[in-house]
Amino acid sequence: TATPGAHAPASARSAQLFDRASAVIPGGVNSPVRAFGSVGGTPRFIASARGCTLTDVDGNDYVDLICSWGPMILGHAHPAVVDAVQRAATGGLSFGAPTESEIELAETIVDRVASVEKVRLVNSGTEATMSAVRLARGFTGRTKIVKFAGCYHGHVDALLAEAGSGLATFGLPTSPGVTGAQSSDTLVLPYNDLAAVEQAFAAHPGEIACVITEAAAGNMGAVPPLPGFNEGLRRLCTDHGALLIMDEVMTGFRVSRSGWYGLDGVAGDLTTFGKVMSGGLPAAAFGGRADVMNHLAPAGPVYQAGTLSGNPVAVAAGLASLKAADQSVYDALERNAATLGTLLGDALHAAGVRHQVQFAGTMVSVFFADRPVTNYAEAKASDTWRYPAFFHTLLSRGVYAPPSAFEAWFVSAALDDAAFDRIAQAVPAAAAAAAA
Ligand code: PLP
Repeated sequence: TATPGAHAPASARSAQLFDRASAVIPGGVNSPVRAFGSVGGTPRFIASARGCTLTDVDGNDYVDLICSWGPMILGHAHPAVVDAVQRAATGGLSFGAPTESEIELAETIVDRVASVEKVRLVNSGTEATMSAVRLARGFTGRTKIVKFAGCYHGHVDALLAEAGSGLATFGLPTSPGVTGAQSSDTLVLPYNDLAAVEQAFAAHPGEIACVITEAAAGNMGAVPPLPGFNEGLRRLCTDHGALLIMDEVMTGFRVSRSGWYGLDGVAGDLTTFGKVMSGGLPAAAFGGRADVMNHLAPAGPVYQAGTLSGNPVAVAAGLASLKAADQSVYDALERNAATLGTLLGDALHAAGVRHQVQFAGTMVSVFFADRPVTNYAEAKASDTWRYPAFFHTLLSRGVYAPPSAFEAWFVSAALDDAAFDRIAQAVPAAAAAAAA
């Protein structure tokens, strides 16, 4: 096991596995950002994880500041979640028939998020947003949708235009394979720009089915909505008969027990969830107004389905996670995000690097910029070229930050004093590397 502060931890076994993976898996990974493409170097293959610590196949330990890109707010291998998963698995892995625990998970979501009256469980955030958009079109009988540049809603064809996350990481405006027909009904507007939304409604009267937005953007880095932005979207959608889809896949059950809705109280007609509510297994959901949700099959005409939807093991993991996520967990997330932000900001300040430490609730980002970043154009204009050295210096000192300048950092409640000591020891060198 590497000692904190050690330089250039061995990565021979990871390198070997990456070669082997690349022979049979495109790019060697099953989701692009994992490949370290924009920061260079060898992606670490993970052998196990516990609490706030990831252990790779070469035996190096890292303080985990990704949390599986959001889900693991309790830390890894939380005993209550592992126990629930084991018990569920013993009872059978999948039935293709309804179970009581699905109701419990739906009730838990409805109980936590007052804007949600009915819920459908799916397997990924992508499915949640794809289905929510279809439902919005089916419900309104309209075709056009509005999304914001730098927001990522999964790899749904119609939602890939100027998306954040991996597309931002790799500098892609959209994806080959998305046809003009699939994207021509998508209007892409600047985030935090209500005037642009007003103009879109004026230019396309009676045509816009929905506006989909990250409740707070996390996929171009953490970029919170400016005061009044979400409220303005709510008002414009209501005025023009469009649905507002609040994508809380990232923020849901992380930034508060009720997600971003718990912070600003702006109700989507539909809301999408994933990540935290899955406990780390493949589960996600979308929900909202009962009159809209009742348009879904079999209650209504809009088709949506899934062989593994509501899978008993995934549902058990999600339920156990949400049960364990009491106020003390949310208090710890607040504290840990604040401490992380202070450590990052102090080190970058001391090194004389222009920077912004930004928060969207308890999601944290570092932008190498002079002024707060409020949209994708500003995120792209920051000194992203500083990020690879910053990232690798942290990694070599046992701190695992996102391998992309355009991703939020995720804390868990499991971060302890030893983890913060390690981060505190690593950030000055990382800041110096970013300054170079
Ligand atoms: N929506 C948001 C806001 C996300 O952050 C993500 C994934 O990062 C998704 C949707 C897609 O979720 P999934 O990766 O589970 O398909």
